[in-house]
Amino acid sequence: MSLALSTAQRLESILEKMNEACVRTSRAADSVRLVAVSKTQSPEAVQEVCDAGHLLFGESRIQEAKAKIPLLSSRIEWHFIGHLQKNKIRAALPMFDLFHGVDSFETAEEMNRIADEAGLTPKVLLEVNVAEESTKFGFGVEKLRAQMEHLLGMDRLVIHGLMCIPPPQPKAEGSRPYFVLLRELRDKLENEFHCRLPELSMGMSGDFVIAIEEGATYVRVGSAIFGERKGKSWKPQPEAGFED
Ligand SMILES: *Cc1c(COP(=O)(O)O)cnc(C)c1O
Repeated sequence: MSLALSTAQRLESILEKMNEACVRTSRAADSVRLVAVSKTQSPEAVQEVCDAGHLLFGESRIQEAKAKIPLLSSRIEWHFIGHLQKNKIRAALPMFDLFHGVDSFETAEEMNRIADEAGLTPKVLLEVNVAEESTKFGFGVEKLRAQMEHLLGMDRLVIHGLMCIPPPQPKAEGSRPYFVLLRELRDKLENEFHCRLPELSMGMSGDFVIAIEEGATYVRVGSAIFGERKGKSWKPQPEAGFED
């Protein structure tokens, strides 16, 4: 990635690669959407991407998103891509159009309960721990099958599909088997449980092209658009009148 390029040029280049991957695999160009991952980025940086014509962003921390979202255009569609702590669910529900990473039965249950109280019907993706890593969030494959019936019965949650974050790979091709696994799991669950799971959220800066080749409908791309992340999270300046 060359940082000599402007944000608009980097965005353009990613959209071009996405389009090429669609053409190559005979997919409709509008069958996959780019979630620009704006975690840790300032509102000014988000505004630049917005000015280049992009209106879908992903955040992974509730506090940060809560401070950032009101400073930006209400035309932006915000997705939550992180791990949702139970005590943040109530604040998060009205802020986001899609929750990519519902990563446990307990979180789903709590979301369903709070959504019911709040009169909301959040759209969610279930995160699958595709490499069965003990350190990672997400449903193990067998656990998900065992719990799917119950998850589908949570009548406030609109389950749109699956999401995964494979372990980091030295080469992008290394992610392919995990993307295949997620797609095949989706197909099996649809058959077994007679449900529709049209969305697959997979692929980041290093491997989004491969994810599209394997059926991604959302790719989540941060550093390839914004440049390398510097800090851990963006915070509003105290003089702007925010509490920490
Ligand atoms: C940070 C993050 C991304 C974006 O990662 P990049 O490598 O910067 O593209 C995608 N998905 C999730 C869940 C993330 O936390």
